[in-house]
Amino acid sequence: METIVFDIGETLVRDDRHWASWADWLGVPPHTVSALVGAAVTQGRDCADALRILRPGMDPGEAYHARAAAGRGEHLDETDLYPDVRPALAGLRSLGFRVVVAGDRTARAGELLRAMDLPADLVVTSEEWGVTKPDRDFFTRVLEVSGASPEATLYVGDHPADDLFPAKSSGLRAAHIRRGPYGHWWADHPDVIETADWRVSTLTELPALLGGAGRGKTPAAPREQHASREQHSPREQSTLPAQSTLPAQSTLPERPTLPEGSERSERPTLPERSEGSERSAPSDRSRA
Ligand SMILES: [Mg+2]
Repeated sequence: METIVFDIGETLVRDDRHWASWADWLGVPPHTVSALVGAAVTQGRDCADALRILRPGMDPGEAYHARAAAGRGEHLDETDLYPDVRPALAGLRSLGFRVVVAGDRTARAGELLRAMDLPADLVVTSEEWGVTKPDRDFFTRVLEVSGASPEATLYVGDHPADDLFPAKSSGLRAAHIRRGPYGHWWADHPDVIETADWRVSTLTELPALLGGAGRGKTPAAPREQHASREQHSPREQSTLPAQSTLPAQSTLPERPTLPEGSERSERPTLPERSEGSERSAPSDRSRA
């Protein structure tokens, strides 16, 4: 392994502020937004559906710009980082890895992240590249900036269908982090277990795992590390269909973060709202 590439939302940056600011903009309690995001996550839907449920017809991209024009635009600072980010990234660099941050975020988020002077060799966002995950072109761009071969490039993210599966199908190594709503909910899905080269709960596990493997060597599969959790996963007891093969892109969520760019308005439509509680039926997730 030579280059470690990190997703942004709920891998490096916690999304509390992000969703709270939308709740504030829409005039609803943050818990309402969070609960609706959770519903979308468990159904494998785009979590921006939460906003579409609250404001049918609203274009999140247009709303993003309206917020910015009103002086209530996007913000990121040190308090938005998970506390293990700096030690993990610095630790990886000290081991000689190239560290890249590349995720689905706005150009503004890229500016804010770069201003934080993270221990990274490059920080770039999807809006700056003009392509969003899980598009294969995104991972082509990742490899262009990696400076290493696909098999020597590791993509780390929380979202199975946006991070893990497309990274692997593009030839990269992939690590799944059990963090954030998607990360926790989908962590023990059979496809995630099968696909991930590593599954971790904190970023600070990575320097030890990768440093132990040594650069350029094939890492030992660490999938066993969460074996005890797999035995009592609430997810496996209940809603998720047993899926045994990869590109679960047809069944898992398509995108992890809010559509903050204006070009992101081509979103999946809302679930069948008229069904009331039926909307949350686990079987609905097969459409995503
Ligand atoms: Mg993410």
